[in-house]
Amino acid sequence: MHPTQNARVIIRHCDSYDPERIRQIVREGLEELDLRPNGRTLMKPNLVASGPLFSHAHTRVEFAEGVMQALRDRDDGRVTELAIGERCGITIPTRLAYEGAEYLPMIKRNGLKHYYFEEEPQVEIPLTHQERLRDYLFTPEPVAKADFFVNCPKFKAHPWTTVTFSIKAYIGIQDDRHRLIDHDHRLNEKIADLQYIVQPQFIAIDAITAGEGRMLTPIPYDMNLIIMGNNQVAFDSVCCHIIGIDPNTVDHIRFTAERGFGTTDLSRIDISGDVSLEDAKKRGANFSSGLIRVEKYFEGSNITAYAGPPPEQEHSDYCWGGCPGAIEEAIEILRLYDDQCDKKMPRMHVVFGDYDGPIDAGPGEKVIFIGDCAKWEGEINNQPVQIRSKYKDRSTKDPYTIKGEDITQKMMKTKKVLGETQDQQYLRLEGCPVSVAEQVLALVELGGVASPFLNGDNVKQNGKAFLMWKSAMALKKLKGHKYQVHGPTHRGQARPRVNPTDS
Ligand code: SF4
Repeated sequence: MHPTQNARVIIRHCDSYDPERIRQIVREGLEELDLRPNGRTLMKPNLVASGPLFSHAHTRVEFAEGVMQALRDRDDGRVTELAIGERCGITIPTRLAYEGAEYLPMIKRNGLKHYYFEEEPQVEIPLTHQERLRDYLFTPEPVAKADFFVNCPKFKAHPWTTVTFSIKAYIGIQDDRHRLIDHDHRLNEKIADLQYIVQPQFIAIDAITAGEGRMLTPIPYDMNLIIMGNNQVAFDSVCCHIIGIDPNTVDHIRFTAERGFGTTDLSRIDISGDVSLEDAKKRGANFSSGLIRVEKYFEGSNITAYAGPPPEQEHSDYCWGGCPGAIEEAIEILRLYDDQCDKKMPRMHVVFGDYDGPIDAGPGEKVIFIGDCAKWEGEINNQPVQIRSKYKDRSTKDPYTIKGEDITQKMMKTKKVLGETQDQQYLRLEGCPVSVAEQVLALVELGGVASPFLNGDNVKQNGKAFLMWKSAMALKKLKGHKYQVHGPTHRGQARPRVNPTDS
């Protein structure tokens, strides 16, 4: 059965980003777990965001180098390809994320192959388990074909899903247009569905300097740990215990366990290493996780947030995976680029979901209804206002036909809405979800704060990476390559087999 149910987690001390030391620790971890890479070996780091302002958001390059060298040390001649692959944060070209995290010289130095997942063919993976949100998903071909899959996430908090360890990092095995489907109040179920695509034989998390509080702009937290394992439910469960969280309260971990991928029960996990779980817990005792509702998050700022339930209320009374969390990340990014952001931001009101209550907007204070499901009726400044839900049932979104939007399209769309409503007191941003990028763009316009997309060097680097991405895709198209490949696809040995029908 893959993933193994003989779950083991190894906790090791490591207090520096010394690739040679990391290589040694990871090699010893692979030896202890009796693992050797083979066939198409693919390592996935977390490169959601990188560059000087996002230095704690991603798996550090020294860590990745140590892991890749340890994998090579354990190769007994059966590895046919040793590669790194990732899809970074939405709308940003992964080329830029690799560059910002300084991965490219390391990749060259070590003779590795690398994949920008959005530039690879997206292949179809059928789903048959009972709890699935849909019948098929798309994933980049190198992920589907992996024989030995290594997940190398960053140890971080997450404002929408509490934590982002190994399981949650799977959001990076889909390109934007597919990633945004079900990236709403069913996000945790989506993450559980993604588990059926591939399972790692080996996991090593960068917990030397962990990231607390947030996901894109985390606060550095010295943990001085490398944690390794062979089953990612067990692995994430141990990571949760290190920071004092019951893994069964983290939906995506619990769902993945319930679907048969592994156990959250510590008594069934073999934990070893030179740091005991008790000592690791002391290191994680002050770690602050994410999960904060948007109303609370904006308390004391110029923005007042109001959130009602999303459409499928039986699943949640709050959209943890969609628009409200996206605005929290958006404002954190703006604060990085403009230290006067909070002062400059005019009084405004943001409304999510089916909100049933007053909106306390004074004259001239903008009210922004965010997301297709926003719905409200009442008076703003003595004027009657009715906002109807535009939410479309998820069954109407087909991964076969869904269209993606790049940053230029998002810019034009946001500018158009803001232009058309500049004399109105309220406006609506449509989408499900309205992505972090779109909310950044809207807040830049409304708040008059510095734009991350137009910031000095960023413009040049963004533009160059964007053009290279688009040129690479145009060339592939000319050669007859399709972005999406429908129908059965070859799967490698890292394909999970958790149901009796998985042959
Ligand atoms: S529109 Fe936004 S808030 Fe509403 S369900 Fe979709 S993602 Fe959630």
